[in-house]
Amino acid sequence: MPQYTPPLRDLKFVMHELLEAVPRLQRLPRHADLDAATADAVLEEAGKFASEVLAPLNPVGDAQGCKLDPATHAVRTPDGFKDAYAAFVEGGWPSMICDPAFGGQGLPLLLNQCLFEMLNSANQAWTMYPGLSHGAYACLLTHGTPEQQALYLPHLVKGDWTGTMCLTEPQCGTDLGLLRTRAEPQADGSYRLTGQKIFISAGEHDLADNIVHLVLARLPDAPHGSKGISLFVVPKFIPKPGGGLGARNPITCGALEHKMGIHGNATCQMNLDGATGWLVGQPNKGLAAMFVMMNAARLGVGNQSLGLTEVAYQNAAAYAKERLQMRALSGPKAPDKPADPIIVHPDVRKMLLTARAYAEGGRALAMYCALLLDEEHGADDADAQRDAADLVALLTPIVKAFLTDNGWIATSQCLQVFGGHGYIREWGMEQFLRDARINLIYEGTNTVQALDLLGRKVLADNGAKLKKFGKLVAAFIDEEGVNEAMQEFVNPLADLGDKVTKLSTELGMKALANPDEVGAAATDYLRVCGHLVFAYFWARMAKIALAKLDSGDPFYAAKLATARFYFAKLLPETAGLIRSARSGVQPLMAMDEALF
Ligand SMILES: Cc1cc2nc3c(=O)[nH]c(=O)nc-3n(C[C@H](O)[C@H](O)[C@H](O)COP(=O)(O)OP(=O)(O)OC[C@H]3O[C@@H](n4cnc5c(N)ncnc54)[C@H](O)[C@@H]3O)c2cc1C
Repeated sequence: MPQYTPPLRDLKFVMHELLEAVPRLQRLPRHADLDAATADAVLEEAGKFASEVLAPLNPVGDAQGCKLDPATHAVRTPDGFKDAYAAFVEGGWPSMICDPAFGGQGLPLLLNQCLFEMLNSANQAWTMYPGLSHGAYACLLTHGTPEQQALYLPHLVKGDWTGTMCLTEPQCGTDLGLLRTRAEPQADGSYRLTGQKIFISAGEHDLADNIVHLVLARLPDAPHGSKGISLFVVPKFIPKPGGGLGARNPITCGALEHKMGIHGNATCQMNLDGATGWLVGQPNKGLAAMFVMMNAARLGVGNQSLGLTEVAYQNAAAYAKERLQMRALSGPKAPDKPADPIIVHPDVRKMLLTARAYAEGGRALAMYCALLLDEEHGADDADAQRDAADLVALLTPIVKAFLTDNGWIATSQCLQVFGGHGYIREWGMEQFLRDARINLIYEGTNTVQALDLLGRKVLADNGAKLKKFGKLVAAFIDEEGVNEAMQEFVNPLADLGDKVTKLSTELGMKALANPDEVGAAATDYLRVCGHLVFAYFWARMAKIALAKLDSGDPFYAAKLATARFYFAKLLPETAGLIRSARSGVQPLMAMDEALF
């Protein structure tokens, strides 16, 4: 069975040394009383829950999957999932970052980011149940009426109810403008919803007393397309105004999907047969309201792959130190043994360091985004809020797509370290790879993230958000420009920054002539930007490691070696990506459709 050790040292490094997060958070009125000891204690407890309670259930969930009783529409989760969820609620974890007005503890989102990274490492399928509740909480907190908030939020905060997001239908996935579920207004102000949703994660299960579905549907007079979509809250059991649960609402699970990975999470076909719902936000503005949940979920999906990258790395590194095969090309390294451990071989190290560099770079980026979100929601100065919001908007598609692409590469490379044993179930590596695959698809495929980044976040605002990130990079380069020891990091960072600026301008010009140029370049462009962001964080981490190299803590030597690996072996892929992005649309569209 795979092992998992919470990466507390690196989480604390990013929090305290790289981001200097506690003093930044203390400047926000709502977190003025936070101290480093509290933050560390939360990480340690979260790590225990993830490694001791959740990790042992990961292979169980994979082997058993979820079971539907067609007669009652009830879904049973794998053995142990329900008890683990009860312990999660008992521990107060669902309420950690929620508003004290609804029973929350009001701690920073940054701590939740760390909690969920560790939960995802331990058990992605289980973690999706509480993960979706947070999105539903955030959506109702922003767009719900005071009555809806009073009815639903205390339960989502406590965790005795969970949430879902119901967008997808058989004919509508990426293109939500095609959705058909209908909502008919009723005399009492509620709506009757009829239609079918598919692929709904955590749509039905036995972990919580009630499920709060957030459903996209059309009003009878709605305009066509995405401008005619409204958002509704549709509870499994209709809450009684004074407390307690009333009637079972006809929103039921008709079937469970049989799928490649995340078997422990129920992926449900949901039938709405005249289910009662209530409008959330304005009529026909449902997509904008749902975006609160979708943006949270996009960061959450990046975090899923970050978790898998870390746990896959840990297991592959341990295996590579034990497994004996062949001698090092440069002569035996373990002459007392029949062969050397495979970690002596350069290519095995390349696979391990790839995963390590992606895990640690991804952690720095994801935690930075969470801190920005804390600043966006907690700063008392409008400019600071806007700057943070702009950076989060720019970085969200990068977190979603770059971290999940990297997670797929890393889990595959870590499986490869095990040779044939990686392909065999008992080692757990093939589960990490299978679980990681969905992360490139849901919450908007990675292609959709790339179109969002290049089309909306960069070209549509004339590069303003990109320039905000560019200013951070430029300030760091200015600061370190005279530091000889940092040239190996600063020079390639500066070079890539210039290339991204030029590439963005070139693609903007081409897009004016032919909008398909955006679609042709977007996925390469996102990966180049992902590397720019990683190079910035890796350079900053290298600076800290260089300064503390003589501290006697081997952590800094490992950090510096990983930074050097990243710049030498991973960053150079940007040269090929830029060439490919610049080659334009012609090679893609030249072939006649009939010839495919
Ligand atoms: C396990 C699982 C869990 C899920 N959980 C949920 C959930 O909880 N709630 C929910 O609502 N949905 C959920 N989904 C649905 C998921 O979000 C969709 O599958 C996803 O958005 C893609 O939609 P689609 O499958 O219809 O693919 P399509 O939209 O048909 O896309 C097919 C391909 O075409 C590409 N494509 C489409 N449009 C464009 C374009 N304009 N430019 C370039 N390429 C394009 C896509 O990138 C993709 O590669 C889940 C799916 C799965 C498999």
